[in-house]
Order: sequence, then structure tokens, then C-alpha cells
Amino acid sequence: MAPRPAVFIDRDGTLTDEVGYVNHPKRLRMLPRSAEAIRRLNKAGIAAVVVTNQTGIARGYFSAEVLAAVNASLVAQLKEEGGHLDGVYVCPHHPTEGAPPYRMVCDCRKPKPGLLLRAASELGLDLGRSALVGDKPSDLAAAGAVGARSILVLTGYGLGEWEYRRDAFPLAPDHVAEDLLDAVEWVIEGRR
Ligand SMILES: [Mg+2]
Ligand SMILES: [Zn+2]
Repeated sequence: MAPRPAVFIDRDGTLTDEVGYVNHPKRLRMLPRSAEAIRRLNKAGIAAVVVTNQTGIARGYFSAEVLAAVNASLVAQLKEEGGHLDGVYVCPHHPTEGAPPYRMVCDCRKPKPGLLLRAASELGLDLGRSALVGDKPSDLAAAGAVGARSILVLTGYGLGEWEYRRDAFPLAPDHVAEDLLDAVEWVIEGRR
């Protein structure tokens, strides 16, 4: 099968509400138009892949089992609304906090592109025709590192980052969107 495009999606602040560390599935709050955004991607034949930094693991705030339960709940909630995620990729590391094995300088903590590279190789994705949607400058930088387009959403930390800190961004976004659905519509429009 020929490599297909993907939209990589940050989790906290982009797909779900930014509520701090999500240490229980019940803390997960889907943003209002997220399920529709995923359904649009599914219909357009674009892979929908979550890429998320979860330093709460390295810091010892929650276990890998809890993280797995939270992400399973995310997948289930979307499925209930007719949306399919093609993959969920997590960086559980932190370079200086906590203890090994999670305390390490890894190649997957955004802004590094390791999660995107791993997903591309495992799922057969064309990074040059892909995009990443996130609410932080580190998300944009990860996209830039693999030649994917970058979209900043104004949900989560996005509004504050854009209004007050955009001069400090290592990489300007290719597009600024109200939310994930708005971002996905921009991607799909651009392909027509
Ligand atoms: Mg985020
Ligand atoms: Zn990592």
C-alpha cells in the first residue's frame, strides 16, 4: 500500500481539554468538536494519529497502566461517536525528572520528532503530505522537523501562546485554527 497522509494530533489542549495531569480516565474531557474532526479525517482517508508527551509517567504522578486506561477511554469515547483513531503514540520520558527507565534524554519527546517517525514507519505514512495539530510551540517544531505542516489551535494553551508568546516560537505555524475541527477542515480544503 502506498504511504498515506496523516494528521498528527496532540492530546491535551487539542483533542481533549487541558486540565493538567490526567491521572484517571474520568479526568479526560473531550473538546466539543473533536469527534467530528476525527470522523472527517476518517472519511477523507487521512490517518488520525495522536502524539502526546506524558511526563506524568516519568515524574511518578501516574503509572503506565493508568495512562493506558486513559488512552483506552479516549479511543472508546471517540468510537462511540463514530470516530476511529489510527494510532496513539506516547512519550513517557523526561530528561531530568523522576527515575530511570523513564528519566532519560529520549528522541520522542516533542519538539523531537521520534513519535512521528515511529508512527510513519509502523503505519505507512507520508510525512511530507501530513500535518500536525497542537496547542504549543513544541508541537509546531516537531512538525517542522519532519517536513509536515504545522497548525496551532487556540484551544488549550494555544490562545495564550499565540497572543503573548508568538515572537518566541522557534517555528511559526503554517496555519492558526480555532480548534481541531477548524484545523482538519483547513487540511482537507487544501487537498482539493
Ligand atoms: Mg497540548
Ligand atoms: Zn520520549
